[in-house]
Amino acid sequence: MDDKDFREIIDLDEDAPGQASDADTEEDREEQDEYEEVCFLCHRPESKAGKLIGLAKGVCICPECMQKTMDTMQGLNLDNTRVPDFSKIPNISFVNLSDLQNMIPQRQRVKKKKQKEEEKPKELDIRSIPAPHRIKASLDEYIIGQEHAKKVISVAVYNHYKRVATNTMDEIEIEKSNMLMIGPTGCGKTYLVKTLARLLDVPLAIADATSLTEAGYIGDDIESVVSKLLAAADNDVEKAERGIIFIDEIDKIAKKKDTHHRDVSGESVQQGMLKLLEGAEVEVPVGANSKNAMVPLATVNTKNILFICGGAFPELENVIKERLNKQSSIGFRADLKDKYDREQNLLSKVTVEDIRNFGMIPEFIGRLPVVYTLEGLTKEMLVRILKEPRNAILKQYQKLLALDEVKLEFSEDALEAIAEKAMEKDTGARALRSIIEEFMLDIMYEIPKDDNIGQVTITREYIEHTGGPVITMRGVQALPMAGN
Ligand code: ADP
Repeated sequence: MDDKDFREIIDLDEDAPGQASDADTEEDREEQDEYEEVCFLCHRPESKAGKLIGLAKGVCICPECMQKTMDTMQGLNLDNTRVPDFSKIPNISFVNLSDLQNMIPQRQRVKKKKQKEEEKPKELDIRSIPAPHRIKASLDEYIIGQEHAKKVISVAVYNHYKRVATNTMDEIEIEKSNMLMIGPTGCGKTYLVKTLARLLDVPLAIADATSLTEAGYIGDDIESVVSKLLAAADNDVEKAERGIIFIDEIDKIAKKKDTHHRDVSGESVQQGMLKLLEGAEVEVPVGANSKNAMVPLATVNTKNILFICGGAFPELENVIKERLNKQSSIGFRADLKDKYDREQNLLSKVTVEDIRNFGMIPEFIGRLPVVYTLEGLTKEMLVRILKEPRNAILKQYQKLLALDEVKLEFSEDALEAIAEKAMEKDTGARALRSIIEEFMLDIMYEIPKDDNIGQVTITREYIEHTGGPVITMRGVQALPMAGN
């Protein structure tokens, strides 16, 4: 039986009466146009492997794999003593049963690359990339302070997408603007990148450098970050290729000092990332973390992916201090040895040399040409974060209570008390939400009980557990509520 007969049998089977065919509805057919099938065995998409042969439950096989399967079967039939040569069937030796259960009912597909005329999507049209001042103005609506960081990131992103849109610039090739952002925890690094990706409408993958290890060791291998981006782009390779990858906690992959073992989660990860940062074609599994026989692969080029690395670099201040002290201990300024001990925002004095001394390898730093720092948040900034951003926490609670026709107010004093509490926790703005949620629980529970309540004012006393909020009944004078 050759594969033509086989196809006929399968076709008959698929069209059997009573069975719903795959392209039943208009919607299905439209979706099929956008995605292409992938060979179940060799994982090549239809565009590469040739017309696929459909088997039951949406599983497809390419003619080559079908032929190999037939050849192997025939070998077995002619001479029963012969063992089928499974090495001829690609990937067949690593079948994972649990994957098999998951994968068979779902169809294996990757999104087709778009046709030529659609190749330049609108948002990458050079005229439609917003100018840096417009990007910054949009960021200002969400992110408080960090003026320098917002300015640098706006210019870098503008240049990056200009580079992507123009593609070739005669002999002058514009360098990639990958970034390294340094700032204490909770000061808005992740939030800045997330906001940026949302404003630009590009896919974003956030990965944690601590979970990355050199390929072959326990942990995620480095290319898994690209796989995440592909998932964020709905498996659309083209969309992923102009996305952003944010790698957090990058300081945790600094070269380990005084180690005699292979540094699989430090220096080796930095080495492994070089290729990605610069631009390389990587084969990544679609819809899974690791490559295995059951997962289709897609090739993603990282040339136009913007990499942003972020970290708190806790010991970096000491490295900077050491350098500055060394400089100032020469000559007349020798007596000012500890003058940097009390210096605020020492991080902003960072140089590439300091980052290298911290343990990042020169090749790695070289591929992140845009370096900038974010400031630690002050009490005033925390108060502003509570009330000013577009989706500020206070505005969210005010909206919730407004639905019950209750007005929620916070006295300035109360906001300061919340900021002071957050400062004590030393986790930046991250502490704000948990503090607010703690005391808003009672308010959100008690207020809807009484329809006559018209306004609630949160006071410093309430935050410090020494008093209650001020409750105003509709059309009546303000009354203090019993403290908790
Ligand atoms: P990290 O710097 O550790 O990545 P995040 O960006 O995750 O910190 O910040 C935690 C949360 O704190 C964010 O989700 C955001 O709501 C808030 N936040 C932090 N910094 C700012 C800021 N400068 N402006 C507004 N909100 C901020």
